[in-house]
Amino acid sequence: MQNYLKSAKLDNVCYEIRGVVLREARRLEEEGHRVLKLNIGNPAAFELDVPEEIQQDVIYNMHLAQGYVESKGLFSARKAVMHYCQQRGIDKVDIDDIFLGNGVSEMIVMSMQAMLNTGDEVLIPAPDYPLWTAAVTLSSGKPVHYRCDEQQDWFPDIDDIRKKITRRTRAIVLINPNNPTGAVYSRELLEQVVELARQHNLIVLSDEIYDKILYDGTEHIPTASLADDVLFFTYNGLSKNYRAAGYRSGWMIISGAKHRARDLIEGIEMLSNMRLCANVPAQLAIQTALGGYQSIDDLVAPGGRLFEQRETAWNLLNDIPGVSCVKPKGALYLFPRLDPKRFPIVNDEKLVLDLLLQERILLVQGSAFNIDDKQHLRVVFLPREDTLEDAMKRLAHFLSSYQL
Ligand code: PLP
Repeated sequence: MQNYLKSAKLDNVCYEIRGVVLREARRLEEEGHRVLKLNIGNPAAFELDVPEEIQQDVIYNMHLAQGYVESKGLFSARKAVMHYCQQRGIDKVDIDDIFLGNGVSEMIVMSMQAMLNTGDEVLIPAPDYPLWTAAVTLSSGKPVHYRCDEQQDWFPDIDDIRKKITRRTRAIVLINPNNPTGAVYSRELLEQVVELARQHNLIVLSDEIYDKILYDGTEHIPTASLADDVLFFTYNGLSKNYRAAGYRSGWMIISGAKHRARDLIEGIEMLSNMRLCANVPAQLAIQTALGGYQSIDDLVAPGGRLFEQRETAWNLLNDIPGVSCVKPKGALYLFPRLDPKRFPIVNDEKLVLDLLLQERILLVQGSAFNIDDKQHLRVVFLPREDTLEDAMKRLAHFLSSYQL
């Protein structure tokens, strides 16, 4: 009998954050082992709850969420996003320029499906949040990775971007604050990217889902606030800033040179209509979230949980012989490097699997983030300090005796 096969269009689509190693961790848990999970940026899994006011409003308004709504999303929610744009200097955004989705994830896939013809190229940072590469590949585009320089606080290498622009390049992705590196880009860097986009007629796709998770007084600049003659798509949502990852609530804002994007916008509207609308109860949370005072500021200020956890994990990682880590300025992750002289790693997935089997700690290998070297790991610093201390001690122990 013939087997049922997946479609060929999935052949090169990868999303390893939830891949083989995670399956192995689940197996260990089913056998009764306790695994320290430092692998996924899911705040609610670490007692970082959705603010009470947002939860209560969703419950109170649940009876209003029984039917489909307009496919772009509830007017009140999009109005709140529009006000957010005004506050953040993203000018001339109308209600109709905002699309709500089941998380940023859906909007990333939808926009790539609408934008790309076969072989169209999209410039994506390396390392990246791998959904971007997967979405471009799924949409028959070609992901072209540009280098982010660890020596320069993981900032994008502008010369590398410039070299990689071809006549097939349609867009450039920025993830700012960055997952997995924690980099937060300066105005100068963003202006250089915008200038390249202007010169080569590229669309700037700016994933800003961590824009409120900032440390050490770092300022976040929305890329779309820097020009109105370039086409920008800005992505954001409730998953991280409001710890509501399970609500599946995100949005995409189209701004700048919209008048040159009528056909593309029609395409996005069609895809948006085809899936009827995003989850409505979660749309009810957006106005309360963006209009309220339940920001993440207390968690990221000195003494706050996220700030202190970042300090602890970063210090302990840098104390491990052969390990160094750029200090993240935003988001929820550390991306340490294992010195290749001490650890000439050939297969980083195997290293992460061995770490899981020996020490019961779950991390993600750097190569899952589309970087070509095998010398990095991604560590989520959402667990409480005592768990992070335990995990870093076990990582140090594992590395001290690891035979490659
Ligand atoms: N973009 C980045 C950079 C992320 O790190 C994530 C999730 O980790 C997402 C998008 C997905 O967000 P959402 O939960 O809104 O789908």
